[in-house]
Amino acid sequence: MQAEKKITSYQTMIGQRPHVVCPICGQQVHFVTTIAGKQMPCQIALEYGDGKKTLVTHTGRTVRKAAADVLGFQPHWGFCKR
Ligand SMILES: [Zn+2]
Repeated sequence: MQAEKKITSYQTMIGQRPHVVCPICGQQVHFVTTIAGKQMPCQIALEYGDGKKTLVTHTGRTVRKAAADVLGFQPHWGFCKR
């Protein structure tokens, strides 16, 4: 139930921010502000962890090896085709 709430709040946040196109690979990304105040380019898709991937949550926390109950965006770095 709480996860559904998070998805809703996140979609609202994305709606307020323009998506941007990565200048290196041309993929659409969006920026998530991390707890350190940095703008992190992330994938558009919101997803759950699988114990392996790194996710940036809606609170701006970077979670490495995110578990299945962690909801967030994968950083764009791993997807960027240079
Ligand atoms: Zn890129």
